[in-house]
Amino acid sequence: MGNLYADILLPLALKGCLTFEIPEHLEQIVSRGLRVVVPLGKSRLYTGVVVEVHNRRPNFRVIKQIQSVIDTIPLVSDSQLRLWHWIADYYMCTEGEVLKAAMSKDLLPSGEEIHKIKRISDSLPEIVYCKFTDSFSPSLLESLVRAKRQYAIAKRLLDNDNCMAMSDLLSDKNDKSALKTLIDKNLIEIFRQMPVATEIAAMPQLSESQIAVIEKLESTPENKNCSLLYGVSGSGKTEIYINQIHKCLSQNQDVLYLIPEIAMSVQLISRLEKIFGNRLIVWHSYLTKTTKRQNYARMSLLNRESLVVLGTRSALFLPYVNLGLVIVDEEHDSSYKQTEPAPRFHARDTAIVLAHQNSARVILGSATPSIESFYNATSGKYNLIELTERFGQSVLPRVILSDIRVATQRGERNSGFNKIVTDQIAETLSRNAQILLFQNRRGYSSYVVCKNCNKVQQCPHCNVSLTLHSNQLVCHYCGYSVPFQDRCAECNGELQTKGFGTERIEVELEKIFPQARIVRIDSDSVRNINDYIAKINSVTRAEADVIIGTQIISKGLDFNNVETVVIMNADSLFYNPDFRSTERAFQMIRQVGGRAGRRYNQGTVIIQTVNPDNTSVLRAASGDYYAMFCDECKQRQVFVYPPFCRLIRLTLNHSDSEVLNNAVQQVENDLKELFKDRVLGPEYPIVDKIRDRHNVMFLIKTHLGKDGLIQRANLKNIMCGWERLKVRIIVDVDPV
Ligand code: ADP
Ligand code: ZN
Repeated sequence: MGNLYADILLPLALKGCLTFEIPEHLEQIVSRGLRVVVPLGKSRLYTGVVVEVHNRRPNFRVIKQIQSVIDTIPLVSDSQLRLWHWIADYYMCTEGEVLKAAMSKDLLPSGEEIHKIKRISDSLPEIVYCKFTDSFSPSLLESLVRAKRQYAIAKRLLDNDNCMAMSDLLSDKNDKSALKTLIDKNLIEIFRQMPVATEIAAMPQLSESQIAVIEKLESTPENKNCSLLYGVSGSGKTEIYINQIHKCLSQNQDVLYLIPEIAMSVQLISRLEKIFGNRLIVWHSYLTKTTKRQNYARMSLLNRESLVVLGTRSALFLPYVNLGLVIVDEEHDSSYKQTEPAPRFHARDTAIVLAHQNSARVILGSATPSIESFYNATSGKYNLIELTERFGQSVLPRVILSDIRVATQRGERNSGFNKIVTDQIAETLSRNAQILLFQNRRGYSSYVVCKNCNKVQQCPHCNVSLTLHSNQLVCHYCGYSVPFQDRCAECNGELQTKGFGTERIEVELEKIFPQARIVRIDSDSVRNINDYIAKINSVTRAEADVIIGTQIISKGLDFNNVETVVIMNADSLFYNPDFRSTERAFQMIRQVGGRAGRRYNQGTVIIQTVNPDNTSVLRAASGDYYAMFCDECKQRQVFVYPPFCRLIRLTLNHSDSEVLNNAVQQVENDLKELFKDRVLGPEYPIVDKIRDRHNVMFLIKTHLGKDGLIQRANLKNIMCGWERLKVRIIVDVDPV
């Protein structure tokens, strides 16, 4: 036999695969997609994935051998490898980094951890079942009458066709010992098995306009696989997804249903579980290791039933079989972009590639589509499908703009609330309906300033002001915190808090409405997903009257009883020095407003602003998406921004600003030579120092299509020359 070699992908930031020799006893076994253990460096062991088997001896003196093979079935499919390869290439990172993002650590352990590794086929989610042994016959039941519990258990099992999950068979924990006795008597035995796939429940009835959407979705030509479903909030987009998932599953196709944030899954899971039972797989980063491994194992089973995965962006990495449909809900949401660490991928765009690679269809859904997607839809690249009405008797809320300056002049403003807002809250409370207050800033105040020397209290490690949280000053960038003192550290002057964060709104509101039950939902008050679920449920059960929150409450939530929504400060949304700020503010205001009056009574949205005449504010208020879209397109065409180019952002950072500046000069020269006037920078970001490291940015505007590909290849080339620069260089393709 000639020697065989395997290229192994490891979850490390290496440039490519490493090649190992396949020892003779493994030659028949090692194949693409399998998990193997290999030695690296002096003696440390790593787990990796086989990407290719070949007989080309690499040009090293010593070639190490694969030490062992873990599974008998592939952990990774060809289709997964294909997608990962694309991600690494497009987002300019290594395939190892993609692998690391794709697989939880315990699937690819290294060092000592390798001893704990489990075969994927031993990780399947199993349930313990009970059944009668052959020694049991129904006539024996009478002999148990005296042992009440044993009798009840046996009776229950008999009534359920002689097979039940143990958890269903036991009515309380005292039943446990009774069952044990029955097992000891050799009347009942237990066995473990994968749960039986649920029968899918009937599909919901759709309205006429929803049926029209389904017809359009299903009659799209083969070459136009991507549809943008632009439907106002509450129009029933989710019902349409459910209909389409239903059809795919019954045709034995997998479905991927992406959501931007795990927070959104809480209400969706119960909605989907009712219909799809255990054919629904949930995937996000907060699952336990065991659940993750079980879910992954279930998906990699050969000849399994078709499944629907509801997940956040990392669900893109799972092993799909016969993928029929990818749904990207709230496709405009910037949480779809991973910013740190690499791969800095955009889940919506990656989902479209995944679907394309597998000939699956895509539905992008949003009430406020991204400019990019809407542009693609109106220019004919995607299908545009619209739903303009809410479902049933629900109508869109009325929107009121409330001028902060006028209210102040008239003495009608109190602790951040215009009078019209407090009146509306009082009125809503009197009807026992709920109120949602949106403020995009957490903490108590936005910043703290000295009355005497005017110095804003700053983080010592970042170039940013500190935010007051109850009695601590906290840095939102690095987490630094100090106890709040009333006096300025520099001049001992009196300190003053400025601006309203969610915490302060809560405090002020308690003063005005002491009887109202208030719940605050932001990343300070919600430490984990269980906190969040508990809070959402308390709102659903009407145990809260007022919900105060940041963007976390703007997404996809479907509350029956929220009738008033207040946007506390619209202006802060518009004043971002980013070409997307108008689009973002529009989306945020429409999304938050969309939580109002989703069932019975018409809702009310009040927007507090100092610019009630500003065109962008007016458009967000009236929901004139087309006008906003057309204006934005004109601007972006003139100033060359997406969708009229693609952006690549380079961020250089180093703790020593001199070292950094030297590197910046070289990078600037190289970039200007290559991209001429299509490179912006060096620019200093607003927060130009984070964790004691200085940051400088460049923004490259590459062409669309083939020319863009050439530019990207050239960029990769010059970047090789920067490896000897001592600074860290972060590449972000399509930054958001
Ligand atoms: P969207 O996702 O567009 O915001 P949803 O799908 O959440 O809208 O629908 C809004 C509300 O209307 C939900 O409570 C949903 O259950 C209800 N609804 C929508 N379509 C139907 C339907 N065909 N039958 C019954 N209820 C529906
Ligand atoms: Zn800091």
